[in-house]
Amino acid sequence: QALLAALQPPPADPILALGGLFAADPRPGRIDLGIGIYKDEAGATPIMRSVKAAEHRLLDTRTTKRYVGARGDRQFAAAMIDLVFGTATDSGRVASLQAPGGTGALRVLAQFLAAVRPEATVWLPDPTWLNHEAIFAAVGLKTAYYPYYDRERSELRFDALCERLRSAAPGDIVLLHGCCHNPSGADLDEAQWRTLAGLLLERDLIPFVDIAYQGFGRGLDEDALGLRILAEQLPELLAASSCSKNFGLYSERVGCAMVLARNPREAEIATARMTVHARTLYSMPPDHGAAIVRTILEDDALLTDWHSELEAIREDMNGKRLHLAKAFRQASGTDEFGYLAHGFGMFSLLTLSPAQIEHARSAFGIYIVEDGRINVAGLPTSRIDDFAEAILAIRK
Ligand code: PMP
Repeated sequence: QALLAALQPPPADPILALGGLFAADPRPGRIDLGIGIYKDEAGATPIMRSVKAAEHRLLDTRTTKRYVGARGDRQFAAAMIDLVFGTATDSGRVASLQAPGGTGALRVLAQFLAAVRPEATVWLPDPTWLNHEAIFAAVGLKTAYYPYYDRERSELRFDALCERLRSAAPGDIVLLHGCCHNPSGADLDEAQWRTLAGLLLERDLIPFVDIAYQGFGRGLDEDALGLRILAEQLPELLAASSCSKNFGLYSERVGCAMVLARNPREAEIATARMTVHARTLYSMPPDHGAAIVRTILEDDALLTDWHSELEAIREDMNGKRLHLAKAFRQASGTDEFGYLAHGFGMFSLLTLSPAQIEHARSAFGIYIVEDGRINVAGLPTSRIDDFAEAILAIRK
């Protein structure tokens, strides 16, 4: 029997499909607000200076390409624990594994959860990054959604979020975006993180923090504040960190899977269990990107330079947000789009129908994801005013 005879193509990934359409569009002024990549004013995603310097150093000093082991580089993981957890907990309590990107970290942790708590439901924010549901489904875990963001009012639904999570079963897992929520750009504030920490503790729920944009919102420490509040107050926590965005290492696949355990002994066991999952998924993580990150995090001069590069990126995105909100205010005479200035990270949502999104593409060459998500970093400053006018025109 032919294996492929009845095989149908999978449904297209809306974000990747949009990239294909954009690439095939010959119009010179077209704007790609699809995939989550930071772009400079010229639309390029250059390699960061600190990354280049670390790469030169590695090129000169590396003498082997031996396997790094399923756990990856322990010093990389130690540096990542510091970057993510700061002083919120004793690092001996954190199990860790170098993973291929944030996605690899999410998948290893999902696999780990499926083995230790197969009966759990993983609660995801509505809306969330499209891959979340698929990753948990791939390991056979149940998922459910809690309200997170009100698309009509363009604001967080914190009360509804708390109410829904109160009905979760003890032992369930709650996935949270550490910062720069994808796709809404709406983050919890400190008081809300504290309230949430109390609720999770009271209801015996385990947080799973996906932190893919640390440093893109308010700052490296500020963006980890929610995760650190949870780490201080809860006995256990899972975290998937990505270096794709904040180090601009998208193609190198660098991430870190972490589990805060109640004590170092349990952390050691959790690391060993994650290592077993990594072995069956991809055996060993790629080395180069993590070696770059470790080189930067361990060197004062490179670290200082990386901080300033990251700050410039953050200021550029926040500046674009202010400019965008102002352009909409001027063109519409209302403050309907004021929320764009208060969002964090690369993404925000526009309330547009699928027909309007299609219209933006065909009439103006503006590429927006089908749920109305825009990558603010993909919008050149010189085009912001045109963009606001085009969006208001298609809504007429
Ligand atoms: N989590 C979220 C919320 C994301 O937006 C992304 C990237 N789009 C990731 C995880 C994974 O990033 P990567 O695998 O490229 O490191």
